[in-house]
Amino acid sequence: MTYPTVVLKKAAEQLKKRQEENKQITREKKQKAYIEIPALLEINKKIGALVKLGVASENKVSDVKQALKELVLEREQVLLEKGYPANYLEDYYECPICKDEGFVGSEPCECYKKLIRAEAYKLSNLATRIEKENFSTFSIEIHSEQKYMECILEKAKRYCKKDCNLKNNLLFTGSTGTGKTFLSSCIAKEFLDSGHFVLYQTATRICNIIDDAKFRHDQAENGEYLSMITDCDLLIIDDLGTEYAFGYPQSQLFDILETRMLAGKRTVISTNMDFNELNQKYSPRLVSRILGNYEVFVFRGNDLRYQNP
Ligand SMILES: [Zn+2]
Repeated sequence: MTYPTVVLKKAAEQLKKRQEENKQITREKKQKAYIEIPALLEINKKIGALVKLGVASENKVSDVKQALKELVLEREQVLLEKGYPANYLEDYYECPICKDEGFVGSEPCECYKKLIRAEAYKLSNLATRIEKENFSTFSIEIHSEQKYMECILEKAKRYCKKDCNLKNNLLFTGSTGTGKTFLSSCIAKEFLDSGHFVLYQTATRICNIIDDAKFRHDQAENGEYLSMITDCDLLIIDDLGTEYAFGYPQSQLFDILETRMLAGKRTVISTNMDFNELNQKYSPRLVSRILGNYEVFVFRGNDLRYQNP
């Protein structure tokens, strides 16, 4: 799990907000009960006095304990009689395991991991898309070349499993509307759900960010985003080849791809171009150096967008 600081910071803010909201819920529900059942305050006073006594007198510890137990039972009884649950005065926590602390010992609690994943979802640029486009909504029937697509689908699923024998990177090539972006969303969801940091971006946008980080305003912000593009567990680049970029942004984009490759990070690229077109747009040397390390999925079939208006 290599989440960037911005994700962890936002998740920590969410956790703090949750703690404060739940403390407020606790305060309000206690207040409600005390107003409705004044006897509870009396019992609480007695409990408080007994606790003090228990601390002061060491000899009668067992007596004090017994008296405390009776008072707690009495309080529960009063609550039940008024239609409240016996444990109504207990503090309210959204997560009873970590009591909203986010950690169990030094380990992050499952609830905190969920908050982190939610922030990672938001930052991925895929949050809305993968609700609709994931393996469970993938429908093979709409493809004109079903048998062929089944093989692609099976390989994509395999790619999401640990220790699969496919290369670390995928190149989806094929004409517009053959399902490349859909399948990359499916893969993205699997990785996000298994606690990986995923970023989706078009090649055009990445080149603009590279350009802005070097030459324009918000250099720091864009530079930070570029680090995320370089370091994220899975980078999905859509529409490679459509970017109107030459020189610096283009060579930087390929440098990023190479850095990721050397670091063993996964990248999924989709493009409408075939190899000849890629070789023309970039250089055959660049294309073979980078894309030689990619598993190539050639998408075929009719344009799905016209079947699903
Ligand atoms: Zn928890």
